[in-house]
Amino acid sequence: MIEIQESWRTQSIAGREFSKQLHRIRDVHIELEYILQSLAELQNNNPCSMCTNVCCKEEICRESVDSDFLRFILGPLVNSYSSNQGWHIADAGCRLNYGRPLVCYEYYCGDFDIQNWTQLKQLAQAFKMVYSNAFAGQHILAVEDIARISKNKLRNIHAKLLTLRGVAEQELQRSLRALWLLNPFPHPGCRLGG
Ligand code: SF4
Ligand code: SF4
Repeated sequence: MIEIQESWRTQSIAGREFSKQLHRIRDVHIELEYILQSLAELQNNNPCSMCTNVCCKEEICRESVDSDFLRFILGPLVNSYSSNQGWHIADAGCRLNYGRPLVCYEYYCGDFDIQNWTQLKQLAQAFKMVYSNAFAGQHILAVEDIARISKNKLRNIHAKLLTLRGVAEQELQRSLRALWLLNPFPHPGCRLGG
């Protein structure tokens, strides 16, 4: 499990207080983002690593600062947003480890239409679905004030996130095992597979 240590969690943000349940949701949300990114990195032939026409754009990044929920996930990081470049750095990629718009995990690009991305796409879709109908029929990304989401709804969201994290962790372990079986001795000369 990833440990998230940030002193701001006990503080209000711009005068706003957030419930413990929202902070619990934030923690699991961030863990899921890390797992999805790790899974993407483990895939062979990740199309993005060879792409000559990277699709990241400020218009896409902007949701992370426009959405109340994603601003909450970002915390103080929100202040590093560039209104010209968004979160993207040429030749280095995305500056964000967490708080990305969920569309960034959807792998909608046609270059991902290959079998070994199916599981990852399904996990990403399930991640987005967890947050549907969070308040007044709206997806959480569209909710103007996340403090208005009911306790019951937050409890349900948290429970679904925990279930999804379990599935995602199993998939990560399966991918790591498969990789290890393909290449048990990654360092030339070393027979310990470390
Ligand atoms: S999603 Fe498609 S277009 Fe975007 S960077 Fe990856 S390969 Fe390129
Ligand atoms: S992956 Fe990062 S840089 Fe690319 S669109 Fe999403 S937030 Fe922006």
